[in-house]
Amino acid sequence: MISIGVPAEGKDEPRIGLSPETAKKLVKAGAKVTVRSGAGLRSHFSDQDYKEAGAAIAKTDAEAVSGADVVFTVRRPPLALAKAMKKGAALVGMLDPFSDAEGLDALAKTGVTLFAMELMPRITRAQSMDVLSSQSNLAGYKAVVDAAAAFERALPMMMTPAGTVPAARVFIMGVGVAGLQAIATARRLGGIVTATDVRPAVKEQVASLGAKFIAVEDEEFKQAETSGGYAKEMSDAYKKKQAELIAEHVKNQDIVITTALIPGRPAPKLISKAMIESMRPGSIIVDLAAERGGNAELTKPGEIAEHKGVRIFGLLNLPGRVPVNASSLYARNLQAFIDPFIDKDKKTLAIDWEDEVAKGTGIARDGAIVNETIAERLGGKSATRSSAAGTATKPAPAKAKTNGGAKAPAKKPGSTRQPKGGKTT
Ligand code: NAD
Repeated sequence: MISIGVPAEGKDEPRIGLSPETAKKLVKAGAKVTVRSGAGLRSHFSDQDYKEAGAAIAKTDAEAVSGADVVFTVRRPPLALAKAMKKGAALVGMLDPFSDAEGLDALAKTGVTLFAMELMPRITRAQSMDVLSSQSNLAGYKAVVDAAAAFERALPMMMTPAGTVPAARVFIMGVGVAGLQAIATARRLGGIVTATDVRPAVKEQVASLGAKFIAVEDEEFKQAETSGGYAKEMSDAYKKKQAELIAEHVKNQDIVITTALIPGRPAPKLISKAMIESMRPGSIIVDLAAERGGNAELTKPGEIAEHKGVRIFGLLNLPGRVPVNASSLYARNLQAFIDPFIDKDKKTLAIDWEDEVAKGTGIARDGAIVNETIAERLGGKSATRSSAAGTATKPAPAKAKTNGGAKAPAKKPGSTRQPKGGKTT
């Protein structure tokens, strides 16, 4: 019988990798599920909820994971947790694969198989496993709600006998998954919404949500999307034209939500200090790119900065501040990922290494890093690399089509995605 273990997360992470709903589904599929006592509490999932779903409750993390074939986490866990796991067991989570390569190597050397969910190939079949999308969507929502709560005026236009309250102007920069949800949320709250992006495909989506698209639409803009659906780094000439347009626009905005990212690169700087100074006191900027350096010049990651009456929110882990939904969606992503790898007859873990989902996300097995980018960052430092390096998968560089799985045929056609270099939003 396959056994699934779920430890508690660190003190800064309110989410959990298993919900009572997914626990129930896994138990029904024949798995034994063990959850560390209290691990779901910050998502309002009690031990009793898990028990009713058929899970067992463990007193310690070690007890939760020591017999498990698969361990679900949100963040990269401490080394001690991997050491408590069985060799060859799978650790599935957002393992932040491109930071602290040495720490990752140490995890790999425990012999645990590591799956970094951030590297999920962006193919149609894997949409239900796409943790970046599920979490970014909530981040986009929360960014607008935070801004609205901090904004000391109303968002919708109100016509009252005492006079008219004007609608707030909300500008969304970067219209990926988070940006689209930010537009939809700001529209629902009654704001006058504009949005910008460097990818032309976005223009129609913005219009369909009832917002106005603002961008420098030159020849470079028409080529700005990679085959993976992500943005390219723009030329200096484009950035200059973009900055002029944005400067003119931003000074009339009340709330600006920035979400612009380029895979594997620092976040592009889109809002200068001068632009912030052009905004009215009381205006709010929420910088969702704060974890990757921020889109605004004065963003302080993890803090709310204030400059001449404009507040700049650089808060981290926004999905973690909607933990009930974030955990529920994330848990469904993990369950969708592991389900095809459960042998339904034998009720055992059966990873298909030819499958592009396993190849794309699998970064270590048999004690070795099997992802070339991480292995390269380690140089010759990983003593364990050689045995499995022959099967190494390399995440696609910014312009390539997909990461890993080149030989595995996609079961359904779909767009491809590239891995991100940083933490998830
Ligand atoms: P992301 O988080 O990498 O970036 C956010 C947005 O910032 C992107 O829209 C990007 O174009 C934009 N951006 C980058 N540089 C900019 C600049 N200088 N100025 C303005 N905007 C800038 O993006 P994401 O949310 O991961 O989404 C990327 C694409 O992938 C979207 O089209 C999304 O719909 C698509 N997607 C596909 C799948 C799938 O097929 N499985 C799943 C999720 C998302």
